[in-house]
Amino acid sequence: MGVLAVLSEIISPVVCAGCTLPGAALCVRCRAETPFIDRSRACPKCGSEMDGTRCAECVDRSFAFAGAVCAGRLEPPLSRVIALYKDAAERRYADLLGQLLIDACSDWRGWPDAVCAIPPTRMARARRGFDHTEALARSLARGLEAPWRSLLTVARTDDQRHLGREARFANMAGAFAVPDRLVVPARVLVVDDVFTTGATLDAAARALCAAGAFEVRVAAVARAQAQRLPSPPSQIAEENGAGDHSGKRRPGTAASCVVHAEHGNDAHA
Ligand SMILES: [Zn+2]
Ligand SMILES: [Zn+2]
Repeated sequence: MGVLAVLSEIISPVVCAGCTLPGAALCVRCRAETPFIDRSRACPKCGSEMDGTRCAECVDRSFAFAGAVCAGRLEPPLSRVIALYKDAAERRYADLLGQLLIDACSDWRGWPDAVCAIPPTRMARARRGFDHTEALARSLARGLEAPWRSLLTVARTDDQRHLGREARFANMAGAFAVPDRLVVPARVLVVDDVFTTGATLDAAARALCAAGAFEVRVAAVARAQAQRLPSPPSQIAEENGAGDHSGKRRPGTAASCVVHAEHGNDAHA
């Protein structure tokens, strides 16, 4: 810990996001209450927790990414950690959230050729003062011993927090671009803080596949499950209102990754 960090801890110690007890980002009691998603019960396609063998969250949906992992459900105290981190700029929660991602993605160690993040819109970046998703993706890259790469840019900036599920998918079409100069590796892991409908991550995967990725997987700290949501996801879950892609998609290329739409894909390889 650097001098500044030590001073910061003395002046204003980090508090538990769940109960405000000083000393740790998440105390032992609140960690025990954190709604982690058990990988053995999670949908490999969208990362949500399933009650049985069929996922109610994505049964009618195909994604351009081949698999998804989410560390926990978007419920307290995890939802509060994320809200404080991204909206109250409590950056000391970055290590905790990064570690949750590393733990959730441990089966994927050795898989990605690169880890990248959903980029924020310029407005979101300015509002928060930092790129909250990049910090998480960098942590995950270190944890998986994979290279961090900045592969995506935002091409449109409309906010979609007010939109419903179908509207989000339509709104996100072409939302991200891969700069022409970049060579996209074959296996890319994309990180976001919250997986709500999957529209944002799907748009990112499509852009990466169109630019040459062979397979894209995605990871998020929290899964906002429609079946369990106690309140509208818009309170906390921002599906990054990115959107246009200034036509940066390469001519003649469509999303080229195989869409692994059914359970039983190799998402847990
Ligand atoms: Zn606590
Ligand atoms: Zn699913």
